Amino acid sequence: MAQPLPGLLVVLSGPSGVGKSTVASRLLQLPGYVRSISVTTRPMRPGEQEGRDYQFVSREVFEGLVAHGELIEHAQVHGNYYGTPKEPLRRACAQNQVMLLVIDVAGGEQVRARDLDATLVFLLPPDKAELMRRLQGRGTEDVKQQTVRLQAAEIEIQRAKATYDHLLVNEDLDRCVNQVADLVHAARTKLKDRRDAGEQLYPGLKSQPE
Ligand code: 5GP
Repeated sequence: MAQPLPGLLVVLSGPSGVGKSTVASRLLQLPGYVRSISVTTRPMRPGEQEGRDYQFVSREVFEGLVAHGELIEHAQVHGNYYGTPKEPLRRACAQNQVMLLVIDVAGGEQVRARDLDATLVFLLPPDKAELMRRLQGRGTEDVKQQTVRLQAAEIEIQRAKATYDHLLVNEDLDRCVNQVADLVHAARTKLKDRRDAGEQLYPGLKSQPE
């Protein structure tokens, strides 16, 4: 019987309003795709569930994970820590699954540095006017906030160009989802060839104390 394609870590990033979560939720309906659950030190909000929304941990536990090299990437947001744990990725790779991680470009840069054979995809808006329209469409930001987000988006795009494997324009949802799925398939096929050639995949999955 044919060997299954190897597991793969897929990072999905893009400016706020580009439709990352919609693309991600569509991808997660495909067989073998799983979502990464982050660890955080922020308190649980009403309606949230341990292990579904986040793994909620104390600051000490979080610092222990960092010290033992057990986080793929981490960041501080509004005074709380967030990070992507390695252990679920180890399990996903052992089961030949695709683990989807939706993070910002700073997180993507940390993933790139980790030697995880990850595929990094950055979603682009069709153009700046369209991004503005999507931000307005959400109705959650005032004009000043929209301008700030637009500037941040431009900086992010420049950084992504330097680090990411693929920049994709999200013009049509179905097309975009299919494109990502095709890229994932191609990346896994390449990994399979390397695995068949005896290469040890995902060297960065080992604990690497800082
Ligand atoms: P919230 O507290 O509202 O759930 O999330 C706050 C911010 O933390 C969001 O911008 C979210 O994208 C970011 N975040 C959540 N998990 C992670 C993670 O594992 N790594 C990084 N770098 N950021 C995260």
